[in-house]
Amino acid sequence: MPTHTQCPRIAIVDIPGKGKGVIAKQYIPPGALIISEKPRITLPAQNSGMVDRQGLVRIFQALAALSQDDSEFIMSFPCAPSEDPILGRLKHFTPCFGDNAFGLCLTISRVNHTCYSANGSPNASYRWNTRTKEEDLRAIREIQEGQEIEVSYMSDITNYESPPAYLRRKFGFECCCEGCTRPPAERLASDQRILAYNAFVPQVHSRFGKENPLQILKDLEIQILILCEEGYIFEVAGRADDAFELCASYGDAASGRQWEEICRDRYAIHLGTDSDDWKVAQRLATRPQDYVGWQALGRRNLKGPSPRILEYCYRNIETARAESTESVASGGVAQSVASSFDLPSAGAPVKLSKGQKKKAKAKAKKQVAQNSDKTVVTM
Ligand SMILES: [Zn+2]
Repeated sequence: MPTHTQCPRIAIVDIPGKGKGVIAKQYIPPGALIISEKPRITLPAQNSGMVDRQGLVRIFQALAALSQDDSEFIMSFPCAPSEDPILGRLKHFTPCFGDNAFGLCLTISRVNHTCYSANGSPNASYRWNTRTKEEDLRAIREIQEGQEIEVSYMSDITNYESPPAYLRRKFGFECCCEGCTRPPAERLASDQRILAYNAFVPQVHSRFGKENPLQILKDLEIQILILCEEGYIFEVAGRADDAFELCASYGDAASGRQWEEICRDRYAIHLGTDSDDWKVAQRLATRPQDYVGWQALGRRNLKGPSPRILEYCYRNIETARAESTESVASGGVAQSVASSFDLPSAGAPVKLSKGQKKKAKAKAKKQVAQNSDKTVVTM
C-alpha cells in the first residue's frame, strides 16, 4: 500500500466499487488537521460559482496550456460514460474561495463522498483556507486505522436538495451510502426535517424580543437535536450561537457562556483553533458581555443547554455514529444518548445530578482540549 509522501498517516488506495480513495494508516482523532494541500492544478472561475460562456472559454484555454502530466492527472479522475470527458472531470475541482479559481489536489480531491444521515456521516471535511491558500482536510470524527476517509460533497444544507437526486444531477453518480440506501419513506422523513430546519433558521432572530425567550431556546434545542440525529453536527455551532445571542441579549452571561462553548468547541473540530470563527467564539464564551447586543432586550435569567444537548455534543464522536444508527429503530438520538449514559429512556425527561453533569462536562472538555492539542500533528 503506497503511503502518502507528505503525510504518512494516510494513503491513496483502490477502493472496490469507488475507484481511488484515501484511507487512514493510523488512528486520527477528531479535530486533527489531516493534510493541507496547494492544488496541483487551478482553473479560472468566477467566485459566484457560476460559469458562463466566457468562463468556459477561459477554462478550456487553461486546460490547453497544461503539461502532459497535468492533463493525465485530470484524466485519471472518473467520469460517467454519459458525460463529456472533460466537463465531467471538472466536477472534481473544488472552489478556492476568494481566489477566482477552482483547484484539483493530489490527495484531497481523491477523498470519496458519503452523505450526512442518521445512518452514518462523513468522518472528515475539507475547506479552502483563505489565509494559507491551501485546502485543509480535517477529521471531524474519530478515524480508525484502515478506515476510509470520507467527506460530504454537499457541505451546505441551506440549499438542500434530497442527496440521491442532487448527487446524480451535480456529480453524475449514484450514491450508495447508508443514508441514500434507506427505504424511501425514511429518506423522505429526513428531507422533511431538514427542510423544516431550513425554514426555522432565517426567522429565529426575528422572534427575539417578541416571543418568550424560553420558548425560543426550547425550539433551538429541538432543532439542535434534529441536526444531531440527521448527522449535521457542524450546523449545531450556528444554532448554539443563536442561543448564545438570545441569552446575551437578556444579559444572562452564565447561560450564554455555556451555549457559546458548544459553538466554540464545534469550530475547534471543524475549522481548527486558528480559524477566525473559533477565535470570536472563544472571546464571546470568555466574555459574553462583549456581544454587540448585550442586554439589548433587558435583564432576565434564561437557560443553558440541557443535559441531552451537552451529552450529545461532547460524548465520544464515534460512539455517536453507532448509536445514531440504533436510534432509527429505537426512536431517536435522545433516547440512545440516554441509554448510553444509563439514564431514563426517551419519553421521560432526562435529568442528571449536578455531580454527573459536572463530571460529564469536565470529561468532555478534557477530550476537546486533547483533540485541540493534537490538531497540529506531524505529517
Ligand atoms: Zn448518499
